[in-house]
Amino acid sequence: MRAMQLTAPGTLELRTVPVPEIGPGDLLLRVGAAGICHSDSYVLGLPFQMSEQPLTLGHEIAGTIEAVGADVAGRTAGERGVVYLCWSCGTCRECLRGNENVCLAAGRTAMPPCPGLGPDGGMAEYVRIPAHTFVPIGELDFAVAAPLADAALTPMHAVNGARDQLWPGATAVAIGIGGLGHVAVQILRATTETRIIAVDVAADKLELAKACGADVTLLADDDTAAAILDLTDGRGAEAVFDFVGTDPTAKLAAATVAPNGAYRMVGLGGGVPGIDAGPAGAPGSLPWGATVRKSYGGTRSDLVDSVALALAGKVRPEIECFDLADARTAFDRLDAGAIRGRAVLVP
Ligand code: NAD
Ligand code: ZN
Repeated sequence: MRAMQLTAPGTLELRTVPVPEIGPGDLLLRVGAAGICHSDSYVLGLPFQMSEQPLTLGHEIAGTIEAVGADVAGRTAGERGVVYLCWSCGTCRECLRGNENVCLAAGRTAMPPCPGLGPDGGMAEYVRIPAHTFVPIGELDFAVAAPLADAALTPMHAVNGARDQLWPGATAVAIGIGGLGHVAVQILRATTETRIIAVDVAADKLELAKACGADVTLLADDDTAAAILDLTDGRGAEAVFDFVGTDPTAKLAAATVAPNGAYRMVGLGGGVPGIDAGPAGAPGSLPWGATVRKSYGGTRSDLVDSVALALAGKVRPEIECFDLADARTAFDRLDAGAIRGRAVLVP
């Protein structure tokens, strides 16, 4: 089969490799589509190799069951679905509580095995997946469904974890309207009666935010924090979701979250919000009661929520499709900020 593999730092190659063998608890999925996340671009840009073997990238996978492992009950060939990206143990205390994204087996860094970032991923014709990671998608288009696995799952988790602040009339800010951010706006629109403020450095991304349901759009510059405070009578936004995570966006989030508000770090730009433990109001301090969560992926239940919203027609990732062989072009366009929504590879 064809697989798009990371073969050396920064090097992507379309290679012919054997169709994966499956174990008794696995499924073999015929890939219908695989999304490209900014995290893939980050991995591609690392100056070292994550594994000695060539690695098939791709953690946003949708496809059809081709073969079912001997011990798997309740799944049949021909079913269509999307793959839950936390390949967690399923039996530890956190998994049993539904917090599979911080599975104990993953240790303190808590990143359970993720396809395309350890085990081979979905930028290929077939992928092996643990059976419990398969979530049915009905008749959803594969290319639309694939981004649900991360670009919807991750914002859904961040939003679900901030629901106590998202009351009708509250203000929610989404910073960075790329793959994750544009779906976040749709999720907020579909599941809350908040006023949604979208922030991006690019005007076309703000147009996309409007189309996804944002009430207010702001170009990110030195005045953005003041604009958000103005819009909220100086109090700040009840929830701020940062899908960029660089110094400027982290500082913007800390400077605009309301008392008791929810600041959610999602983007992995390595930024430092510069928060100190001084009294509220001191420069660089959070207002009283504000919470910060470093949000990783989501739970299986967050993915089921995401699929349900997509099936109801309330969430629909914007996609730009590329042939699997054209992955490099898709990555280059993503890095240039030229993708509207999510780039998706079709094998
Ligand atoms: P993307 O490239 O599709 O979108 C990024 C968006 O941010 C673009 O629209 C860009 O114009 C905008 N942007 C860049 N700098 C900005 C700034 N200073 N202010 C406002 N907007 C700015 O990326 P993506 O795939 O949506 O991923 C977003 C981030 O989330 C990445 O860092 C990625 O690694 C991370 N991520 C985290 C998790 C998690 O579990 N925490 C999961 C998936 C992705
Ligand atoms: Zn991702």
